[in-house]
Amino acid sequence: VKFVYDFTEGNKDLKDLLGGKGANLAEMTNLGLPVPPGFAITTEACKVYLDSGEEPAALRDEVSAHLDALERKMGKKLGQADDPLLVSVRSGAKFSMPGMMDTVLNIGLSDKSVQGLAKQAGDERFAWDSYRRLIQMFGKTVLGVDGELFEDALDKAKETKKVTVDTELDAADLKKLVTKFKKIVKTEAGRDFPQDPREQMDLAIKAVFDSWNGERAKLYRRQERIPHDLGTAVNVCSMVFGNLGPDSGTGVAFTRDPASGHQGVYGDYLQNAQGEDVVAGIRNTVPLAELEQIDKKSYDQLMQIMETLENHYKDLCDIEFTIERGQLWMLQTRVGKRTAGAAFRIATQLVDQGLIDEAEALQRVTGAQLAQLMFPRFDEHAKVEQVARGIAASPGAAVGKAVFDSYTAVKWSRSGEKVILVRRETNPDDLDGMIAAEGILTSRGGKTSHAAVVARGMGKTCVCGAEELEVDTKRRRMTVPGGHVVEEGDVISIDGSTGKVYLGEVPVVPSPVVEYFEGRMHAGADDADELVEAVHRIMAFADRKRRLRVRANADNAEDALRARRFGAQGIGLCRTEHMFLGDRRELVERLILADTEAEREESLKQLLPLQKKDFVELFEAMDGLPVTVRLLDPPLHEFLPDITELSVRVALAESRQEPHENELRLLQAVHRLHEQNPMLGLRGVRLGLVVPGLFTMQVRAIAEAAAERKAAKGDPRAEIMIPLVGTVQELEIVREEADQVIEEVQAATGTQLKLAIGTMIELPRAALTAGQIAEAAEFFSFGTNDLTQTVWGFSRDDVEASFFTAYLEKGIFGVSPFETIDKDGVGSLVKAAAQAGRATRPDLKLGVCGEHGGDPESVHFFHEVGLDYVSCSPFRIPVARLEAGRAAS
Ligand code: ADP
Ligand code: MG
Ligand code: MG
Repeated sequence: VKFVYDFTEGNKDLKDLLGGKGANLAEMTNLGLPVPPGFAITTEACKVYLDSGEEPAALRDEVSAHLDALERKMGKKLGQADDPLLVSVRSGAKFSMPGMMDTVLNIGLSDKSVQGLAKQAGDERFAWDSYRRLIQMFGKTVLGVDGELFEDALDKAKETKKVTVDTELDAADLKKLVTKFKKIVKTEAGRDFPQDPREQMDLAIKAVFDSWNGERAKLYRRQERIPHDLGTAVNVCSMVFGNLGPDSGTGVAFTRDPASGHQGVYGDYLQNAQGEDVVAGIRNTVPLAELEQIDKKSYDQLMQIMETLENHYKDLCDIEFTIERGQLWMLQTRVGKRTAGAAFRIATQLVDQGLIDEAEALQRVTGAQLAQLMFPRFDEHAKVEQVARGIAASPGAAVGKAVFDSYTAVKWSRSGEKVILVRRETNPDDLDGMIAAEGILTSRGGKTSHAAVVARGMGKTCVCGAEELEVDTKRRRMTVPGGHVVEEGDVISIDGSTGKVYLGEVPVVPSPVVEYFEGRMHAGADDADELVEAVHRIMAFADRKRRLRVRANADNAEDALRARRFGAQGIGLCRTEHMFLGDRRELVERLILADTEAEREESLKQLLPLQKKDFVELFEAMDGLPVTVRLLDPPLHEFLPDITELSVRVALAESRQEPHENELRLLQAVHRLHEQNPMLGLRGVRLGLVVPGLFTMQVRAIAEAAAERKAAKGDPRAEIMIPLVGTVQELEIVREEADQVIEEVQAATGTQLKLAIGTMIELPRAALTAGQIAEAAEFFSFGTNDLTQTVWGFSRDDVEASFFTAYLEKGIFGVSPFETIDKDGVGSLVKAAAQAGRATRPDLKLGVCGEHGGDPESVHFFHEVGLDYVSCSPFRIPVARLEAGRAAS
């Protein structure tokens, strides 16, 4: 095998082998762009090293051969005393990864060659500046010396000299600094800074390999599900110098604005600087446009190169470049990151430019980005006082009074206050407070901290790890940078999409994208938002492409109408239990308490017209589209009062010798119905089988409602869904009764009703016997929430707050299986059940209801296993439509 590729040998499609940076450096080289010559060591070499603990035998020779060739090309030798060739050693995996080793620049400098470099360049200051940078970077990243020691020494040198920026240090100062830096290395690393240039290079290469297995890199890979065996490539690139005086410099640029997508000149430039200086904020950079005045020739060339890159990659690119004494060099490019809004705009702009087609445009945006655009946001025209920035953990814009403990959060929110829960970090005890709060702000912890995970699960705005904040929970206050103190009750605003924290109330505006979906803003109108235009067009692309239909989970006409506006093609799940709440609870109570047949029938008779009315409204709202109604699912005790509360009431009445017969009966019923494990108890089809008349009443309500809509010339398309079926026998019994009721209604109303009867597949046994169940079911709807609970044996209501944080931190999964379908486990059951069902009944309709129906990754999976539709909450419908389109293109 070949372990080393010259930049002239690679190309952009070799990311697996050369890493992202190496592949793109090769691509630019072959495009004829000015890239400093160099070579890439493959991920294969890294893999061998990691497996065996030793670099492959052939690697050293190959590196030597490529180094020879490079030296010949450049006309000088690595570290040569009188005129040294210098190189950078740069890590570059397929995916850029936090925790990977940083780049080391200026390799090849030593006590001797620094003199040669000074002479060649005619600039002593430059040579010593380069040398001190090498020792600093090498010491920190290769030898593991604490970087702050170097920073401190540099600061001290500036202080002594009474200057503020590093360019004001002269050659003599820098020479002294080099001596100081070498001392630091010696004491901290227990060895001298290596003077042999080849040793410098080899050690740096090895350090890059080793960083693949650094703790931070490993954790990141587990969470992002990046395989551990990819390995990283290493790029060795001849140095060009931006620190050679005012006609040199270094910069970063985007081929278009990563925030808006607009074409133009975006970037920053810093004169007389090297490497990271431009992003490290050590001196003030100038906007890229000013380069035109500084160096017109390089500027024009850069503009032309950016155009070449855009046309070549057919996408926004970001680049790193350096100008060495008027000569422009390209040091990196890649397809650039962008904001959610820009992603939509850029995708449509590129279609208009004829660079990409509709299918490709769909690959340039994601459902997660669309979801982000649908959150309300802070008014961008508002005057704000930003005080800190943490990690954008869960999107949204939240405003409220700062409270520092969960108890206060709950208490204040009960009395109608909006609160932001501020904690150093949260733990399971904070759950009530988190539920009560508008948003959550923590000063510690990352994207997988308890606060972040739970907030995302609840769809609540969260900023975490805002380390500049000093949260003092004891004194109920926090100190922001600059010393201002936020007391309990002071209003703050947090932006979960950017991580920004503001003092005071920042006005919130609804998302224009939601206004558009709601029909309050129109694409094509004169004042239409550019973003709305782009979203409108992308949604049209998706709708044209997708095979999956998208339905909504909705229980009432209002939600149904909204879902329809958002593009729902029916209701996939109408939960009838929501119709049993409010004033109807009493009727349900009576049903549960009934001692005699007559009493029970009486309460059912009273419930019937109420249910029917709900259905009439729903069928009208969804006229012409399918509506899947699920018969009652939850355990009955959920409709009865809380056991403790009731016991207290009974005891009180007893002590006061007041009449309490009803309460006593209720309490007895609560005891009778009490289950240790209601999730696995008397619920779903089991209720239908043991509570006489309950399901038939519901079926009658559906059938009569459908008949009424027909009589009104409507087009009702009801489907009756039986929950929690585990065996076909259960379904057969319910079905027989249902068919009979439907026939009665048909006869009584003289209408022909086409009511499909089907079942949810949400128990492992149902999935395993799907072939049998399909004999009695006209459709399956996979209830992936319950199926996930029962396949994993996880209680959804408990795990998020108890051990999921630990699981996520340990990388056991990167995302909760309740959020994204567990393809290997739950998913394979879905797939097998779908196949078995269709084998029995080829026209079996297959769908999924449950949170996964609106989750991007899960939607792709459901497309792949051939389901007919997904059903999700109304707000997620656009996301599901988009992802279904992306899955199909
Ligand atoms: P990162 O992956 O962090 O961007 P890079 O390998 O791109 O790391 O390098 C860090 C900085 O050093 C960048 O600003 C880059 O442009 C600069 N740099 C890297 N190699 C060279 C080189 N051969 N000559 C000049 N500057 C370089
Ligand atoms: Mg870079
Ligand atoms: Mg269920």
